[in-house]
Amino acid sequence: MFDRPLKILLVSSEVVPFAKTGGLADVAGSLPKALATVVDHGLPHNDVRVVMPRYKMIEDARYVMDYPVPFMDRQETAILREKEIEANFQGTKHRVPVYMVDNYHYFYRDDIYAYQDDAERFAFFCWAVLETLPRLNWQPDIIHCNDWQTGPIPLFLKTHYAHNPFYNHIATIFTIHNLQYQGNFPKEVLRLLNLGPEFYTPEKLEFYGTVSFMKAGIQYADILNTVSRTYAKEIQTPEMGERMDGLLRKRGTDLYGIINGINYHEFDPTTDPRLHKNYDVNSLDAKKENKFALQREMELPVHDVPVIGIISRLVNQKGLDLVAEIADELMHLSLQLVILGTGDPYYHQLFSGMKKRYPDKIGLQLKFNPVLAQRIYAGSDMFLMPSRFEPCGLGQLIALRYGSIPIVRETGGLADTITEYDPVSRQGNGFVFREYSGRALYSAIARALKVYRDEPDSWKHLVKNAMEMDFSWARSAVEYLQLYRNAITKRAQEQKARIA
Ligand code: ADP
Repeated sequence: MFDRPLKILLVSSEVVPFAKTGGLADVAGSLPKALATVVDHGLPHNDVRVVMPRYKMIEDARYVMDYPVPFMDRQETAILREKEIEANFQGTKHRVPVYMVDNYHYFYRDDIYAYQDDAERFAFFCWAVLETLPRLNWQPDIIHCNDWQTGPIPLFLKTHYAHNPFYNHIATIFTIHNLQYQGNFPKEVLRLLNLGPEFYTPEKLEFYGTVSFMKAGIQYADILNTVSRTYAKEIQTPEMGERMDGLLRKRGTDLYGIINGINYHEFDPTTDPRLHKNYDVNSLDAKKENKFALQREMELPVHDVPVIGIISRLVNQKGLDLVAEIADELMHLSLQLVILGTGDPYYHQLFSGMKKRYPDKIGLQLKFNPVLAQRIYAGSDMFLMPSRFEPCGLGQLIALRYGSIPIVRETGGLADTITEYDPVSRQGNGFVFREYSGRALYSAIARALKVYRDEPDSWKHLVKNAMEMDFSWARSAVEYLQLYRNAITKRAQEQKARIA
């Protein structure tokens, strides 16, 4: 059955480098490149294409065609445009098409989300994606959907398109990047999905008095996955299941976890043009110069104290209240804290207050600044992620690559990628705490500082462990291909059973 490369369509509401609000965009921009170039089972490259909305900030997308999309009681026009992302494979370039669904009314706006009519916008997007396929004369084997914005696609395939021979072999996989964002809307949105009240039941789309787009994806996709094994388990518990845990337990045998990779070309301390000085595992003195440059940039005293970096959305998920809880104790230690983040005003105030009290110990930028972010990864000795929950986390993976040692809470993807360093066996790549408390965080930081201060050789070894880990996309792409095959087989079996 799998004697040919796969035709894969990845659907996402955001894709790097075109539009980004979070980790989803990184995944949607990187995974397709890896899927297109990875050699798998000796087969040549897969035919991978991506589709996203065309937002206002995306310029110069080439016109492909326009076509009518039946939507509610009218025909709404979609314009299909195209750009591309380029993948490098052993010196040759591969082109991954990125289709963009354009509609002036729905997508020509300043922001990506948080509009009153988001349900309508993304329902339209999902219809438009499916309607475009026959017009492109391209029948994917698998549609890889991501997060609630794409949840209606598996639902449509199993309902409206179920008996249409162009569509009924297409398998779907639905990836949950963050279960907290569910796309729950009033019952009336059934109209947008062209479905009657019979779908407003707990077995179908009803979710605590709403219609949930995330639930549509979870309920109707052939295979589900999330972005780490631990998070896949955690979301099946009432504590971390965001009220979807029952449903996820029901689909437990179809629910997998695949850790995200990072782009090893973009995030490479030996070539990263954003750094003060490039370095590798054998030139850690140059890493130290990045520290001094960072201290100057953040207007901190320039000297060789341990620098702890935080780069984060400033939201409740990230566990930063624990840092605030132990701030005074922490600031009595010989260290500096460099914080880059934006988000809730509550945290802006919190960190601004801390900075006022300890101006010589805290460097703070309340902005989104990708250049400074790289300088912090390079210039810090340790990198803090005390998250309450963390589906995968990219920060700790980038930190490893730049030799900044992660101090993390043992949850989700952090638990799957960071292991406690043991100075005796010299195994491990970071410092890990479990209990969600300032005390536990403080103790993990103290363990890190002790090795840093008392055992410089051991610390060097730890940095080497970190920098030599491989969290590039190639490995995860192979796992995704296996999941796609599972989904395709499952779909084919169901089709066979239906016909028999
Ligand atoms: P999440 O997707 O929940 O925000 P991740 O750790 O998966 O968390 O990904 C966060 C990504 O965004 C990392 O690449 C991190 O470097 C980057 N990032 C977060 N905040 C900022 C910021 N203020 N400026 C620049 N980059 C940031």
